[in-house]
Amino acid sequence: MTDERKMTGESESGDGGRRDSREPIRGVHRIRKMSKSAEEVHPKKAFGWAARDTSGVLSPFKFSRRETGEEDVAFKVLYCGICHSDLHANKNEWGSSMYPLLPGHEIVGEVTEVGSNVTKFKVGDKVGVGCVVGSCHACDNCRNDLENYCPKLIFTYNSIDHDGTVTYGGYSNFMVANEHFVLRIPEGLPLDAAAPLLCAGITVFSPLKFNGLTEPGTSIGVVGLGGLGHVAVKFAKAMGAKVTVISTSSAKEKEAIEYLGADAFIVSKNPQQMRAAMGTMDGIIDTVSAVHALLPLIGLLKFHGKLVMLGIPDKPLELPVSPLIFGRKIVTGSCIGGLKETQEMLDFAAKHNITADIEVVSMDYVNTAMERLAKGDVRYRFVIDVANTLKEA
Ligand code: NAP
Ligand code: ZN
Ligand code: ZN
Repeated sequence: MTDERKMTGESESGDGGRRDSREPIRGVHRIRKMSKSAEEVHPKKAFGWAARDTSGVLSPFKFSRRETGEEDVAFKVLYCGICHSDLHANKNEWGSSMYPLLPGHEIVGEVTEVGSNVTKFKVGDKVGVGCVVGSCHACDNCRNDLENYCPKLIFTYNSIDHDGTVTYGGYSNFMVANEHFVLRIPEGLPLDAAAPLLCAGITVFSPLKFNGLTEPGTSIGVVGLGGLGHVAVKFAKAMGAKVTVISTSSAKEKEAIEYLGADAFIVSKNPQQMRAAMGTMDGIIDTVSAVHALLPLIGLLKFHGKLVMLGIPDKPLELPVSPLIFGRKIVTGSCIGGLKETQEMLDFAAKHNITADIEVVSMDYVNTAMERLAKGDVRYRFVIDVANTLKEA
């Protein structure tokens, strides 16, 4: 979910030193001040695929990563999911992309080296890295296992790392990350289909819990049946919810009900169906990646219901307040999850056999995959088979 916060507008507000607009600038200064280039600071040769400009087209890219530090885990990347955030970032749709931009934050791999102080992992372990690779460890949010809300959060790509260099993501041959930000992939989860849990999974799991939407029998709406949406259906069902999918694509109805286990399906463009469901939902998880109307969704909520915004369109949405006021309804948002909760989500997924439905693709298919993702032509997540298909240029 790299830079997903940048669309929130909070970066410019000056509230407690939010990092979004300032960190890159500070980082750039730090790079300029360094007598050594990033390649010298980072001696380990690496390669992957990066976007070079706002066309978003990815191509082979050589770069370097740091030496495995005392608290670091190095791992060979096996699989990396393609999140819609990668697409937003590749094309600079949020206005914060630094090129070359090497995306990927649904990363699963096998440990190849651990630093001398690493306690949680050993060579050969199957591990994952999601959207975050660094935080301050000192703020209230960090102290409460909410690193994802740390003002000094370092995203897995397109962010400025502690050493002043730009972070590069998982569309690459290997990663080096502080062990605090490395997750254990539970045995039994297939590594390719588990990769999307590192972003899509935790992004939907966390708000269900935080907003009190996990009681069995809770009525949950899931808007947008894409990468996030389809795992939202699975997690909500595993928690015992009654799940209604709200989608623009009537073609997804059969799968949603028969295969994903949704209880009901509403085509959002169908006014009769929308009217019939008004006032029936305790919570709605909105994963739509594009600008869309909120009024019909707020109408689906019960009194005091909650609409949780997860999708990050490139432009602001219109928020009608009357239905909020007269129904004491809440519109809120949520950003991935902390590391502890991400591990909890993975363990919950293993226990309930939850994985993403994926289409595994080769690295050189990535631009076609991006085009298809932009059109909603994926059931329901692309995952790149990095280990077998990424070739050094
Ligand atoms: P995705 O796989 O492309 O799914 C998005 C779904 O939204 C589509 O499948 C489609 O579902 C629906 N949709 C697309 N365009 C629409 C439109 N114009 N009107 C109504 N519905 C539309 O994307 P994703 O990977 O799940 O990511 C979804 C969004 O969440 C992105 O904006 C991404 O950046 C953001 N995100 C946020 C976080 C966070 O922490 N908050 C984390 C990860 C991703 P139907 O065909 O069913 O209508
Ligand atoms: Zn993501
Ligand atoms: Zn912090």
